[in-house]
Amino acid sequence: MKQFIFFNGKFIELNKAKISVYANSLHYGTAVFEGIRSYKTSKGTAVFRLKEHLIRLNKSAEFMHYKIPYSINELIFFVKELLKKNNLSNAYIRPIVFFEENCIQLHKSNEFKTNIALIAFPMKGFFAGKESTGIKLMVSSLKRIPFNAELFEAKVSGNYALSFLARTEAKLNNFDDAVLLNEKKQVMECSAENIFYIKKGKVFTPKIKGILPGITRKTVEELCSKLKISFKEKTVSLKELMNADELFITGTASGIIKVNQLQKKKFKLNEDSISNKLINEFNSAINAEKKDYLKWLEFI
Ligand code: PMP
Repeated sequence: MKQFIFFNGKFIELNKAKISVYANSLHYGTAVFEGIRSYKTSKGTAVFRLKEHLIRLNKSAEFMHYKIPYSINELIFFVKELLKKNNLSNAYIRPIVFFEENCIQLHKSNEFKTNIALIAFPMKGFFAGKESTGIKLMVSSLKRIPFNAELFEAKVSGNYALSFLARTEAKLNNFDDAVLLNEKKQVMECSAENIFYIKKGKVFTPKIKGILPGITRKTVEELCSKLKISFKEKTVSLKELMNADELFITGTASGIIKVNQLQKKKFKLNEDSISNKLINEFNSAINAEKKDYLKWLEFI
């Protein structure tokens, strides 16, 4: 079957899209992107928190001096069209904004045009099959640089060189993913997920300073408020993670995933855990089962 993509204002076949090997973004990691999910629900296919993802895309784009020539509403329309054209329901949507000119020039000039592409493909989840068993995390030997926090608060492709190395290191050591600390040994986030711990019935997560403000993270905060579970942002140490009752990570591609091991420390996964309460509530939201959460779903 033909795969269609959105490319600078038009829907074209994937194999008709061409990008120059001279592309600045390829050489210097200057692209910005998003990761968005759509789900098949009993009420039809819906994109989860689409507007917020596109607002974050715009923020990342502005940060890197792009000017996206479409409004948020136009982008919403394009995403929905893309899913329809490709007959997709449970899918991952990846908008990417990039510079194609001049791989040598290390500054933005007027000649640089903002390119935008949207691709979408079927997706089950990063850690599909590990929802009930949980995943194993290692502490990355790589560090997040504590300055330039704003760079890591945007979804800039160059940031993911570090994520790529951290997750590869984790895989080579038989872990599923890695948690990154900064040079002050404060817990930041995983390669592409935010991290949370639970102690004595309360949920804690690192403050947004040098980490991506995750949309699933925000969802967890809102679910905690709904379920009357205490939620707090703070500076988090590795010791606090190690001494926690439960750990979980969140991201669009992974959902909410429990952690069963951090380094050598094993975590018990009880049926009536707070993590499970949040996961069940999250599933009811993405499956359009509760009226309260329909506001998060953009039906196509
Ligand atoms: N941190 C990083 C570095 C990420 O790439 C992601 C995935 N976008 C997240 C956290 C989680 O963000 P979200 O819940 O918005 O997908």
